[in-house]
Amino acid sequence: MAHPLDKFAHSVAEKNGWSVQPDQEMREQIMDGLLTNKKRYGFMLCPCRDSWGDVDYDRDIICPCIYAKQDIDEEGRCYCALFCRKGSDGFQNVYVEDRRPEELYP
Ligand code: SF4
Repeated sequence: MAHPLDKFAHSVAEKNGWSVQPDQEMREQIMDGLLTNKKRYGFMLCPCRDSWGDVDYDRDIICPCIYAKQDIDEEGRCYCALFCRKGSDGFQNVYVEDRRPEELYP
């Protein structure tokens, strides 16, 4: 069954020249987190980071976050691993350090 965010994820990936995480379980877990945050806060807050739950303070981590491009260019995948380098295996086992500066956290 298609996930409600499949279309969103594929269009973001296509627009940026990335791939969507090929591992279905991992991909759907992250998309479930995004959906939960959307229901809770009203916007697609990154599900892998601590946050304020306030769009004014969390603008940088609305999916796709502003850190994703550099993460994918340098590490192969975004921090959550929803998006990865085009045609890759998803880099599930690669550790990606959080680029979000500490001072932006609650
Ligand atoms: S790390 Fe960024 S691009 Fe990846 S799922 Fe989280 S918000 Fe989206």
